[in-house]
Amino acid sequence: MAEQVEPAVLIVGAGPSGLVLALHLRLNNVPVRIIDKQPEFSIGSRATLIQPRTLEQFSLLGITREEIFESGVVAHQMRIYAPPAGTTAVKTFNFQEPLESRPSVPFTQPVTMSQDIFESILRSKLEALGTKVELGVELKSILNIGDEPPVAELHHIKENRTEMLKVPYLVGADGAKGVCRQLFSIPFLGETREADKMKIADVETDGITNEFWHMWGSFATAALDFFIFPSSIDLKHVSSVGLKPLGHGNKFQYQLVGPKVNHEALQTAEDLQNEFWEISGRKDITFKNVTWITTWRGNMRLAQSLQSGRRFLIGDAGHCHSPAGGQGMNTSILDAINLSWKLALVHNHHASPSLLDSYESERLPVIAEMLDLTTALHEKVWENKNGIDSKPPPLEATKEDSTDPMYRPKHFSQIGVNYRGSPIVFDERVSSSQESEGEGSGTSFYHSSTTLQAGDRAPDAELTFTPEIPSLKGPQTLFSFFTPHSHTILIFPGTSSLKSEKFVDFFSAIPWAIAQALVVLPKESEEEIPIISGCQFGKDVAGSAYADYGVGSGAWEHTAVVVRPDGIPGGFAKSVGGLKTYFEKLLGVDGYRMLMSL
Ligand SMILES: Cc1cc2nc3c(=O)[nH]c(=O)nc-3n(C[C@H](O)[C@H](O)[C@H](O)COP(=O)(O)OP(=O)(O)OC[C@H]3O[C@@H](n4cnc5c(N)ncnc54)[C@H](O)[C@@H]3O)c2cc1C
Repeated sequence: MAEQVEPAVLIVGAGPSGLVLALHLRLNNVPVRIIDKQPEFSIGSRATLIQPRTLEQFSLLGITREEIFESGVVAHQMRIYAPPAGTTAVKTFNFQEPLESRPSVPFTQPVTMSQDIFESILRSKLEALGTKVELGVELKSILNIGDEPPVAELHHIKENRTEMLKVPYLVGADGAKGVCRQLFSIPFLGETREADKMKIADVETDGITNEFWHMWGSFATAALDFFIFPSSIDLKHVSSVGLKPLGHGNKFQYQLVGPKVNHEALQTAEDLQNEFWEISGRKDITFKNVTWITTWRGNMRLAQSLQSGRRFLIGDAGHCHSPAGGQGMNTSILDAINLSWKLALVHNHHASPSLLDSYESERLPVIAEMLDLTTALHEKVWENKNGIDSKPPPLEATKEDSTDPMYRPKHFSQIGVNYRGSPIVFDERVSSSQESEGEGSGTSFYHSSTTLQAGDRAPDAELTFTPEIPSLKGPQTLFSFFTPHSHTILIFPGTSSLKSEKFVDFFSAIPWAIAQALVVLPKESEEEIPIISGCQFGKDVAGSAYADYGVGSGAWEHTAVVVRPDGIPGGFAKSVGGLKTYFEKLLGVDGYRMLMSL
């Protein structure tokens, strides 16, 4: 029997946020327990859109591109059909603006994948590391409060048994309806919009291809329909129905919205089919197998805090919002990754527990902005419910239509999500008298300007490794070098000598127990590669690393960029002192000194 190791973290809830946290912590060698009160794993598509920022984090979780596309597909265009027959396409467009294709961005569009499939991939990765989700185990209460290690009361439902578990850290990943928030006494601020409902189901369908996200009806597109077919619209009955492909086969997410939809009356597969025929006019499309039906109700809320001593909230337990924009699960995953590596450093006594405070200070502003974005999009989509716009929308079929209520600009990819102004990032290039962009008013934590700053997302780049690293097969990228368990220090020597004192100095400030180093050589470099233990060398073949990291010329000949385990360049240093300052901010002066003495 495997040896039982005391968990350092109890994760309550095995949805996407709990699973990602568990996996990331296990990749950091932190022992965890992950429980879920349900007797079986959930079925149902729910979140279907995985955004580019999330997709690129998958390599850190050990999920390959092949695994993503085995079950997922690049998000389809949306196609809207004209009533009453529902066969003529009046508009086909990208509902989310794609990112520009370049070496720094490995994924330009979201991928559609059913949430239950995604969760099963995460569970299999977790099981490969020896950790299984404990089903049928419910958190009932937490006995103590304050800064003491929490004592959790767990109910094993099948055996009707109570277990008391004392654990250093407890993370509530128990969703919007979970108990953790209440047990931590954290208010959930916001509103419930009872009138805003959506019927959702998973259906296998005959009679339509999976090339588009198909939409019929006159709710989200009331204005469009009205101006083309004024006589066909009965504004008292505006509603719309969509079929969104869920991967490669004939399975779709059925989405029904509209103020006159009687959700209580729609309970069976037959009800959904009839309503679909009524709105779409497409009697040739039939549902074969309806595996899951639910009703979403408008609930837009944000927890006042994400931490209470040694207890944390991640995912929907801390924020819930409209599914419009496909941000919820993606935000939840970034929560989990932001918290995980910090918990690992503290658990291993490399950093002071105060590092954990930066989870809330980094994530809350991002989440608040996401909530505003999704609520605004939700209102745009829902605003036609009591009538129509006065202005006719463009009618021509188009690839980009930013006027469509369903359209999402490129920042929905989350590629610009940043932690500028975080207390643990440091940029030696910005003098103390200059205010970093992240600290001013009107700052966006969803958009970042073109100049890379500490706290932004690390850009990817194509590299050739010298000498070749056997473990990095296939096209070699900067991202393939990053790991979930260490900082990566990118040293850009520019055109100056690898023998220069300034270059060699950097290595004296690296805490090797928690960091690895990569020297990024300019593409034209012909310097002889020195042997430096723990350090790799890569050549910037396309020149994009130097350009995208904004380094390597003039005063910036020598720059070290410290990329955190969550893919954020937390520090820009132009001197060995700058590198030390970054790590002292992160680990505390004593923590850094201790690591350097190892
Ligand atoms: C219709 C719909 C469409 C959506 N589309 C998108 C999309 O396209 N993109 C996107 O990013 N997001 C989308 N979302 C949001 C996404 O589904 C959620 O953000 C995501 O599920 C949150 O994950 P989570 O792990 O935080 O919580 P959940 O998935 O809610 O998981 C919480 C888990 O905790 C368990 N639990 C609760 N209480 C306890 C307890 N006391 N003890 C033990 N276990 C407990 C529950 O059983 C559950 O398994 C959509 C949501 C809906 C409803």
